[in-house]
Amino acid sequence: MSATDLAFDRDHIWHPYTSMLNPAPVFPVRAAEGVRIYLDNGQVLLDGMASWWAAVHGYNHPRLNQALIDQTHAMSHIMFGGLTHAPAIRLARHLVELTPAGLDKVFICDSGSVAVEVAMKMAIQYWQARGQGSRQRLLALRNGYHGDTTGAMSLCDPETGMHELFRGAILEQFFVAAPQSSFHGEWHPEELAEMESTLQQHHQQIAAVILEPIVQGAGGMRFYHPAYLQGVRALCDRYEVLLIADEIATGFGRTGKLFACEHAEISPDILCLGKSLTGGYMTLAATLTTKAIAETISAGGAGCFMHGPTFMANPLACAVANASIELLLESDWQQKVNALQGWLESGLAPARSLHGVREVRCLGAIGVIELEHPVDMRILQPQLVEAGIWLRPFGRLVYMMPPFIMSQNEVAQLTATTCQVLADYLN
Ligand SMILES: *Cc1c(COP(=O)(O)O)cnc(C)c1O
Repeated sequence: MSATDLAFDRDHIWHPYTSMLNPAPVFPVRAAEGVRIYLDNGQVLLDGMASWWAAVHGYNHPRLNQALIDQTHAMSHIMFGGLTHAPAIRLARHLVELTPAGLDKVFICDSGSVAVEVAMKMAIQYWQARGQGSRQRLLALRNGYHGDTTGAMSLCDPETGMHELFRGAILEQFFVAAPQSSFHGEWHPEELAEMESTLQQHHQQIAAVILEPIVQGAGGMRFYHPAYLQGVRALCDRYEVLLIADEIATGFGRTGKLFACEHAEISPDILCLGKSLTGGYMTLAATLTTKAIAETISAGGAGCFMHGPTFMANPLACAVANASIELLLESDWQQKVNALQGWLESGLAPARSLHGVREVRCLGAIGVIELEHPVDMRILQPQLVEAGIWLRPFGRLVYMMPPFIMSQNEVAQLTATTCQVLADYLN
């Protein structure tokens, strides 16, 4: 890539969460294959990010490539209004069968944020149809992350989500503190008290509780106790509030269960999926709900669910999602994710003794080093790349969620290098 191209990128292209005045450097990628990213300058990076949880089978997978090629020859896209196609039907069959019991109606969306918007609208339309139009707000957890569109933003942590800046432009939602009991630790039932009192006081205004089951991702990489999720399910039932599970990051095996709700053996009323749905190939998401909710919405004033994106159920995206799901189910994914957890635990253990490290924690194929202070990405990122690994730390978190296909030796290399670079950085 020429210097001119890079200068054009810097001057004209907005990367995620970047300044146009002082953009952080970006690394040109030529190709990616398996668990490796090939930079333009010849450097090869071991990928610890799976492109933000998504590329569970690694890059350039022959089966996923073939699914796209085959589907391209039939049709790349066709509108979904008034028409249907086999890839969408096959995908919906997979989702109905695999997701927690009762989630039988599938709305296929373009991205995770849209899946959350759709979930919010379903909840609001449901109560509208039941003659309770006052229920228009949602109750979310602090430290949560649900996406970047304005509706989804209103559900993200109010501080890291910069709600102050957008006051008046985004909806005002209810928030309660995030659970503190860790996944592997002791359960403290009093943590449900704030959720209970908020529901008791405001349930007539609340359409749904939304949360990321078990793992709070981009809002802090926190793993919480399954009993909390069970408790929230029971409170939602008691106060007749819907429960939306945002499994966009956790879905399809990442936490050691196919869906994180399974750790608590609960079914939400509405479920959002995305990220690894297509094995990281392209954007696609889905929002599922129950027969009862779908039929109530459909019997309401609008007579239908009010949403329909132009590229809804894009056949290429559905085809590659089907290939990814089938590949996952054929693999011994659960054993692999359990193995990854063990390798990440032992590999990241040395970071515990580093000065400036607060905690090291692992769950499924997720490894997190939480520091005392935020990292300076402009210093740490180039050091990681120089050492041959791709991670994208944020705030106080240096974390990894590698593709499931990563071998024991590669995980050892990824974790040892991370610990080494971090030790030098913290010194
Ligand atoms: C990434 C993410 C989203 C948003 O998905 P996009 O595809 O980036 O819009 C929503 N919720 C959770 C839990 C996520 O991790």
